[in-house]
Amino acid sequence: MQFDKVFKGTIVLEDEVLEKGYIGIKDGKTVEISVDPLEGDLIDFTGKVILPGAIDVHVHSFSNPEEGFAQTSKLAARGGVTTFVDMPYDLPNPVNNTGILKEKIIDLEKNAYVDIALWGTIAKRNGTGEIQKLMDEGVTSFKMSTFETDAYRFPKVPNDEIIKAMEILAETGIVAAFHSEDDEIVKGLSKQLEEENKTHNLAHAETRPPYTESAAALMLMEFAKWTGAKIHIVHASHPRTIELVKLFKEMGTDVSVETCYTYLLLDEEDLKEQGPPAKMNPPLRPKEDVEGMWEHLKQGNIDMISSDHIVWDIKDKEKGYENIFKSPSGLPGVEVIVPLMFDAIVSKRNMPLNTFAKLMATNAAERFSIKNKGKIAKGHDADFIIIDPDEEWTFVQENFETNIDLLPFKDRQFKGRIKETIIRGETVYDGRDMVVDPGYGHFIEGPEKK
Ligand SMILES: [Zn+2]
Repeated sequence: MQFDKVFKGTIVLEDEVLEKGYIGIKDGKTVEISVDPLEGDLIDFTGKVILPGAIDVHVHSFSNPEEGFAQTSKLAARGGVTTFVDMPYDLPNPVNNTGILKEKIIDLEKNAYVDIALWGTIAKRNGTGEIQKLMDEGVTSFKMSTFETDAYRFPKVPNDEIIKAMEILAETGIVAAFHSEDDEIVKGLSKQLEEENKTHNLAHAETRPPYTESAAALMLMEFAKWTGAKIHIVHASHPRTIELVKLFKEMGTDVSVETCYTYLLLDEEDLKEQGPPAKMNPPLRPKEDVEGMWEHLKQGNIDMISSDHIVWDIKDKEKGYENIFKSPSGLPGVEVIVPLMFDAIVSKRNMPLNTFAKLMATNAAERFSIKNKGKIAKGHDADFIIIDPDEEWTFVQENFETNIDLLPFKDRQFKGRIKETIIRGETVYDGRDMVVDPGYGHFIEGPEKK
């Protein structure tokens, strides 16, 4: 058989690594995988690792509308993220009805560099009637929150509405994902500390002790048990939350959990020293808890790693230098999650390349039914990251396109660098520049309806 292209290199498959392998591509799909040479245009990546393109299920392209799909997906492509799932809490309007969803899909098809699936959400009250319609228009999954960031855009959905949503979603088989933090405790402690003029950097973490996250997750899993909903806990920051998820999994509840690269690579000291650039929700945790997260990751208790990418206007972030509560929460990440996690998982901890691929791509594709993505396998889209596993580099902000400083990583040393990003067989980023136009990326429709 004559292939359009043949990629040669160290190929990371689901359960094995071909040290010298060949991937045959036709019409943007992986058609053959072999240890013997294949016929076609050879692209030689000998000495480099060919990994499945990363899937980041937690990206906010429109929390700051100045960013949007063109910019965010460019960062994704440069960072080896070939597919992401965009969060629904957009400014000015959240994706809680089909009119807004359809507009977002048009924007996506016009501006995206990578393939993108979309989260839907529901209004604080009386929104569950939109669930089926949003699914029919192609959302991949639903996101809700137990914490109120904004009453309209990012509300705390009351428990009776959560139950209603879970009951509907249980029927469809689609996953419901939750930001789990206890609104009352966090709001109460924040008010108290501000009144006491305790607005130092660590005050942010002091208003969100571990139980604000773990107790909210516990409640949601108990709701899932009784409604039969499939749920996903986003951005878990603390090992206690992972332990509870493990317990519920063992009891038969259909729950998955994600952590973010920040909760594995940074700790409370970074928040203390840096302030706003290291402020996120939930907050960074003490070093021993970060170690606890790594233990769970090694034991397979964490399903996937996301970035929770968000780029705020630097002027807004800077307000937090006077008073940490004044800074918006969240960090960029879609451009750096792959190289930073490759360094942490593969270079520093010597964990298998397959484990890296599962955490960064395969498990997300399976959990959210993202078809033909997430692994290098016959019939799947030819979405790859090419990494030089030996190249060492120092974190210099100027080498990144992200519009806001990733200060916590400044001057740190890493090993393993992205050389190329390939989507559906085409190079989209060649290690220096983007080589496709906006619009190359496509909307990925949600799972087939049950
Ligand atoms: Zn988020």
